Amino acid sequence: MFSVVPTAQEQLKFLKNIQLILQSGSFSSTYKFALLISLSRLSIEKGEDEGGTLILEYTDIAEKFIELYWKQAVPYTFHEDGQLILNQNNGKQAAIVNRIILLRQSYSSLGLLRRDTSVWLKLLKEVAKTVKEMPVRYLQNINGQNFEFLYRLEYSNKQLTLLPQVMYCLRQFSEIIEELCQKRWIDFVRLNKQNLVILDGLPDLDEFMFAPSRNQLGQVADFLIDLQQCQCFYCGKSLKNSKYAVDHFIPWSLYPADTGHNFVLADDKCNSQKSNYLAPEQFLQKWQERNYLHDQSIVREISQFGFLTDIQRSHRVADWAYKQAIENEYLVWLGGKDKQILVSPISGVF
Ligand SMILES: [Zn+2]
Repeated sequence: MFSVVPTAQEQLKFLKNIQLILQSGSFSSTYKFALLISLSRLSIEKGEDEGGTLILEYTDIAEKFIELYWKQAVPYTFHEDGQLILNQNNGKQAAIVNRIILLRQSYSSLGLLRRDTSVWLKLLKEVAKTVKEMPVRYLQNINGQNFEFLYRLEYSNKQLTLLPQVMYCLRQFSEIIEELCQKRWIDFVRLNKQNLVILDGLPDLDEFMFAPSRNQLGQVADFLIDLQQCQCFYCGKSLKNSKYAVDHFIPWSLYPADTGHNFVLADDKCNSQKSNYLAPEQFLQKWQERNYLHDQSIVREISQFGFLTDIQRSHRVADWAYKQAIENEYLVWLGGKDKQILVSPISGVF
């Protein structure tokens, strides 16, 4: 049997792939996070440190799901008499959670539920079916394309077979994967519209600890509006009558730190369409030229607001980001709603 332990290079590639599906995959519920965590935990519980495949029963994965959601299927209390069960889905509550909420009315603990064998087995079967039809099918899907590096999709099977080396890597990197998934999971729940009612008023620690303040960004906007002569950095349309926002030219999701030269001003439309993507080559050049041309005033003005302003560092971050994008075939925003994989080397970088 094929059981060569992956090389350091292959292990890195694996981690990058995990990063890619968490970053570029679309998430309509929290199932995918639960699935990655489950596969990682099962690899530890059922696998070993060698490069072979690992065959998992769908009911084993289902059990992990139930454990994860059991804890979350009780009302979250946010003040004396305010309670809400967190929504785990972009639309109606996720089916698995609903099922568990119902069972929680009759069973005060997971242990008790497990002991009621017929109910427990029925639940396992139902959850296994949902797991197979939803997250297993979509986890490795990035913008409509299948990207199978964890397992191959075989609908007929009762089991899920992790590809060679996957078990090994999941075991190696389980802490990183758990943390990443948990963080993304919390973010998803936090940003979910139905949950905003209660989470909106609570201190947002992420923002408090890491993100620039709105006040700071407002001051940056006042400066950039002059620098860009009141035009959107991307489409060039006038910002006079439209709403606009300070855009991180190298997306925050790729590099979550602010460097003064990284800010551009974009109208709301371009800003939201660009979202977490990199901009195409012509804008990279435009951005670099702008920075060289206005370096002094950018340093003078933006450093006042407390941002690091170092053109070299900003441009190195950009080099890194575009190299990452080429190596890992990230999608690049082309303007409007179009995106494309970045493959060709970009002039100006390297
Ligand atoms: Zn625009």
